[in-house]
Amino acid sequence: DGYPANMGIGRPALHKMLGDRTIASGAHVLLGVTATELNDDGEGVDVRFSNGSSERYDLVIGADGVYSQTRAMLFPDAPRPEFTGQAVWRYNLPRPADFDALHVYNGPTGVGLVPISDDLMYIYVTTPEPGNPRYPREGQAALMRSKMTGCAPFIQELAEQIVDDAGVVYRPLEAMMIDGPWHKGRVALLGDAVHATTPHLGQGAGMAIEDSLVLAEELATHDDIEAALSAYHDRRLERCAYIVRSSVAICMGQIGKGPPVDNAKATQEMFDVVAQPI
Ligand SMILES: Cc1cc2nc3c(=O)[nH]c(=O)nc-3n(C[C@H](O)[C@H](O)[C@H](O)COP(=O)(O)OP(=O)(O)OC[C@H]3O[C@@H](n4cnc5c(N)ncnc54)[C@H](O)[C@@H]3O)c2cc1C
Repeated sequence: DGYPANMGIGRPALHKMLGDRTIASGAHVLLGVTATELNDDGEGVDVRFSNGSSERYDLVIGADGVYSQTRAMLFPDAPRPEFTGQAVWRYNLPRPADFDALHVYNGPTGVGLVPISDDLMYIYVTTPEPGNPRYPREGQAALMRSKMTGCAPFIQELAEQIVDDAGVVYRPLEAMMIDGPWHKGRVALLGDAVHATTPHLGQGAGMAIEDSLVLAEELATHDDIEAALSAYHDRRLERCAYIVRSSVAICMGQIGKGPPVDNAKATQEMFDVVAQPI
């Protein structure tokens, strides 16, 4: 309550908020290690870590992103992330004081301006990238500027500020949806590990956070862990699948691999859907 339903925030600021709350909760945090082995005997899970140590847990949650190793351990035959044919270029710029809302410009090259703090916004450009090329770091600023040569003069003026190769964030866009179960025994998955979306509706992180809230609610209301994990999956599946489906449809329309989608209409519909209770 009292917070907007959607907002832009830089990743370092979000990481700090989540990290601070995690530490304040008293959770034991272990950094720089990965789980190399999971042995679930029905009563608990023995986890072996890459530093050689082992621990036993009631429940293991793999929130390890689009290339989830936990998913690979649980479901080796699960679908893998697929490159869509499009990529996004992003760069932080100073935010003019009166620029306080998301701006999206549609076209074969999509452009957006996203306020993320009192003094920063980022500009993004989505471009078709057939063959999924890898660009060396050196020259990325000039390359990003060149992707905007056909855009409106106002955008090209902003693009002149893109000068630092190290400040350019280039990402090929991938998507993946696991329709089947999101857990096996006492090991569950959440976030991009089970529903990685393209960013066209800006909902990937929101869906991951919602997953964690629903998972916590279901664990609190079931005595049986497997029943809680099934209830979590049932509550989340359609909402997350909708976000992946609708985002990928916009992406495909933009690069001519699907029918064009009215981005403004799709975004309004998405806001109506995510305004529904989780
Ligand atoms: C270009 C781009 C733009 C995006 N824009 C938006 C946006 O505007 N709005 C939005 O809401 N979402 C956006 N997203 C999506 C958003 O980033 C993801 O949906 C979100 O980060 C998913 O959170 P997650 O916790 O599931 O996974 P992640 O954020 O990927 O976190 C996974 C974590 O697990 C760690 N990890 C991975 N493997 C292991 C391992 N084996 N052992 C230990 N740790 C491991 C990783 O280091 C990472 O810290 C965007 C994504 C991309 C690629």
